[in-house]
Amino acid sequence: MLDTGLYRPNLRYGVLRFAGPAARDAAALRLARATAGAGIIHVDDMATAERLCRQLRAAGDSACCYHGKLEPATRRARLRQFRQGARRVLVATPALGGGMDRPDIRFVIHLRLPASLQDYYRESCLAGRDGLPAQCTLLACPPCDGVSAAPLAAYLRGGACRWRLLLAGLGAGAQGGVCCGQCDQCGGAGQARPPLDLAVLLTLAGERVLFDFPEDSSKTFMAEFVQAR
Ligand SMILES: [Zn+2]
Repeated sequence: MLDTGLYRPNLRYGVLRFAGPAARDAAALRLARATAGAGIIHVDDMATAERLCRQLRAAGDSACCYHGKLEPATRRARLRQFRQGARRVLVATPALGGGMDRPDIRFVIHLRLPASLQDYYRESCLAGRDGLPAQCTLLACPPCDGVSAAPLAAYLRGGACRWRLLLAGLGAGAQGGVCCGQCDQCGGAGQARPPLDLAVLLTLAGERVLFDFPEDSSKTFMAEFVQAR
């Protein structure tokens, strides 16, 4: 089991890669439109925040943006609108900081590379504070993102459960070979498919299936996902 106080089993993590900023922005809009409930999109700058917000509104969505150039009263009003549910999507620059007192956030999308893995954890963990499922997706653009710190680079590279990489990068570690079972590396429903043809079925328990992989690890998957193959 992942055994640490930092672990939040209701958060599904994933990373998507894009060749350029235009494709990444378009994917963020599609993802936000396709995900039910409230969400935050983290962007680098004011211009991007305002543009994405306009595009969401043009598509009939309820969005507002937040950045450092807004008057303090406007900033407070925008946060209040989002917190109270009058706006579904908040598009924010780093001026937002880590605080957002809204428990039912269903998705947190990062269009900007966080400064560190600690920052990514802090910002993404605003999702799903009500304990219900939420999605944390980092949209990476290797040609435009530049170099990232080692723990963040390892997280982006993947190759293991995102929660394991996240906790390892935070210095929390994880015990045993079992993964979260729902990130894009473990193979949650709707996520990238793991190479199950290499694996050996170990156990089937409830909705979880445990596979042994030749490289050194065992991973659990949702039974629904495995049957769908
Ligand atoms: Zn996982």
